[in-house]
Amino acid sequence: MAIKSFIPPVRTLMGPGPSDVHPRVLSAMARPTIGHLDPQFVLMMEEMKVMLQYAFQTKNELTIPVSAPGSAGMETCFVNLVEPGDKVIICQNGVFGGRMKENVERIGATAVMIDDPWGAAVDANKLEDALKANPDASVVAFVHAETSTGVLSDAKTLCEIAKKHDCLTIVDAVTSLGGTPLQVDEWSIDAIYSGTQKCLSCTPGLSPVSFSEQAVEKIKQRKSKVQSWFLDLNLVMGYWGSGAKRAYHHTAPINSLYGLHESLVMLQEEGIENSWARHAQNHKVLRAGIEAMGLEFIVKESDRLPQLNAVTIPSGVDDAQVRVRLLQDFNLEIGAGLGVLAGKVWRIGLMGSTSNVTNVLLCLSALDAVLTDMKAAINSGVAVKKASEVFYSSY
Ligand SMILES: *Cc1c(COP(=O)(O)O)cnc(C)c1O
Repeated sequence: MAIKSFIPPVRTLMGPGPSDVHPRVLSAMARPTIGHLDPQFVLMMEEMKVMLQYAFQTKNELTIPVSAPGSAGMETCFVNLVEPGDKVIICQNGVFGGRMKENVERIGATAVMIDDPWGAAVDANKLEDALKANPDASVVAFVHAETSTGVLSDAKTLCEIAKKHDCLTIVDAVTSLGGTPLQVDEWSIDAIYSGTQKCLSCTPGLSPVSFSEQAVEKIKQRKSKVQSWFLDLNLVMGYWGSGAKRAYHHTAPINSLYGLHESLVMLQEEGIENSWARHAQNHKVLRAGIEAMGLEFIVKESDRLPQLNAVTIPSGVDDAQVRVRLLQDFNLEIGAGLGVLAGKVWRIGLMGSTSNVTNVLLCLSALDAVLTDMKAAINSGVAVKKASEVFYSSY
């Protein structure tokens, strides 16, 4: 039997990413493929850079999309800014800080770990102490928005402390970019990476990054070659560099980049502050319903990410069974807990174009329906009512 075309079901993606890809982005990706050195393509990439600078709120010249997912953006920052023998301070409060450690150790550098509880923000005092105890550290790294726990850390304060101790900063903004206030220049962030499939509502597979002048200087003055050929920014800069100088490095994922271009046009149209406000507002509506149901947020209010909501699973309820039923009965995907939180929380994403009130009410009513049918210990039938009250009271 011949294998036929793959026709995916239409889902609502309310997990930790990918989020729903806007139809405008999908249709942009279906436009004709042209060559990656075609002058028209080069022009599009120039626009892309300007729009990425806007998204990151930076004037950094080296602001580009790495041709690979967020994890490659992370690796780009580490392999370029860290050399064998360097000391890097990593603040870990979830899954992704652990990956930073892996990156540093594979380079042959030393990772000094500062651990904070999963579900809490990075503690600035601990960073200050670690920097005093390790005056030879050259880089500080942390995750701005921990997707594994739903926690927002105070990037501005952490970068201030790092700078005071002459360290460069590497910031993971995979989940924060576009969803929550982020000011690369104002906060003196030296290297930052993100992903396209979270609050930018684009397809997965690209990683916007941005590097300060000081970071670029450090990369140019490295004593050793970057261990990764593909991610070596000294080579990549020749590819994304301006106009005529562009030399072949790899073939850019042309159509994916059309998609990112479109999603950034949409971000400009909305206005980045409005995008942040929308994410905050839909979180409030969701929260009213979740709490009315009797579920709880594991993160304290002041540190909560609006775009990633980690909520407790009622006791006696089978985590996986609920998620399977949401998917089968309502075409709705929510996320499971990761690492130490596996089986203990659900992660409800409200990222990018997923973040709208229609999806909030869908999620609350579907959860209510499934949990009520499973005879879970929740307050049935009140979530949508409470959420709607919050929605209408904001007018
Ligand atoms: C999703 C995510 C990543 C990894 O991005 P991929 O595109 O899956 O490689 C890294 N850090 C954080 C905080 C994330 O949420």
